[in-house]
Amino acid sequence: MSEEIRLYPSNWWYNAGVIGLMRVFQSINNIEESFLQDDGCIKIDRNIFEKINVDKNYFSEGKVSSIVCNSPIYKNYLQKSWEPSFKYFINHLKTLAQYDDCGICGRGFYLPDNIINSCQDESKENLKKFLQGIRMLDVRLNNNLAPSKKLFPNSFWNYNSSLKVCDLCGYILIHHHIPFESAKTQSGEIFINAPSFKVMWYLNKFAEQMLSKNKSYQIREILGMSFIEFSQKVAVTLGTWSMMNIEMIIKNGDRIYYYSLPIEITRVLLQKDIASLISSTNEPIVLETILSGKFSQLITLSHDVVRSLITKTKAGAVSQLKNNDSFSLERLSEILPELYARINYITNREVIL
Ligand SMILES: [Zn+2]
Repeated sequence: MSEEIRLYPSNWWYNAGVIGLMRVFQSINNIEESFLQDDGCIKIDRNIFEKINVDKNYFSEGKVSSIVCNSPIYKNYLQKSWEPSFKYFINHLKTLAQYDDCGICGRGFYLPDNIINSCQDESKENLKKFLQGIRMLDVRLNNNLAPSKKLFPNSFWNYNSSLKVCDLCGYILIHHHIPFESAKTQSGEIFINAPSFKVMWYLNKFAEQMLSKNKSYQIREILGMSFIEFSQKVAVTLGTWSMMNIEMIIKNGDRIYYYSLPIEITRVLLQKDIASLISSTNEPIVLETILSGKFSQLITLSHDVVRSLITKTKAGAVSQLKNNDSFSLERLSEILPELYARINYITNREVIL
């Protein structure tokens, strides 16, 4: 058995669960760098499951997931009397065996039968009931999204089937709310989904950092500014296909919305040199112009800046700048033409998928 478990990105719900679980792991020890892989997957050391403080993380006041009885998101995930079985389950996750049978992750990690049978007396029966419950997708794993046999709108079309869920996914999914809850915007709770866990880890972190300073950012600004931070701070080059598959999931009550930036804007913002130039302008109007895709307005702004410097007046769009003293205008007059030229180069370059 391999010492590590590798997880690959799948749908946004699972991905948010993995990012949430990684936050739990990070609270055990700072392992950020070691689990994020450049190929987009996550590498988990099997021994980490034994280090999880189950009482603290799931049963006490500051818990990361509310999972016992009638909890709002993970309804009836666990009965009160099953708590010892759940602890046994977590402590033995290091023994997971892969059976390639799971409708969520496509890989399928299950607790081996001999481990289940080694569980003590009453706990063993409860462990079996618990596993039977999480191995089918229903309200235990997500009260809002999963099918329910009683309520038609959430039910699968043929009423009696669901997706098969492996034991590891049954555990991962109870963490999916964590990144959403730490990124609250005016439009709802957000999660940035991408085809790489490394990209998701950092984009969501940057979005949260921004929101912790200012809750009034628009969805478009949050995504754009996360891209700018990412390209300047994280050494990962993304292909066009990856860029096309970055989307923001917005959860408002039990409604889900999706938002993504047009690919040409994403390509521009994910260029390190362009991101640095945008940051160095320190002018929201520059980012706003780029986010709206009206790149040629940067040239108009550049002309207005130069005109203002010559005439000592506030020509055109200069009056909308945050800083329009002569020193700031001089700097801007140098940055804007270069910024426009680089954007032009990127947007005219052939897209290779
Ligand atoms: Zn799975």
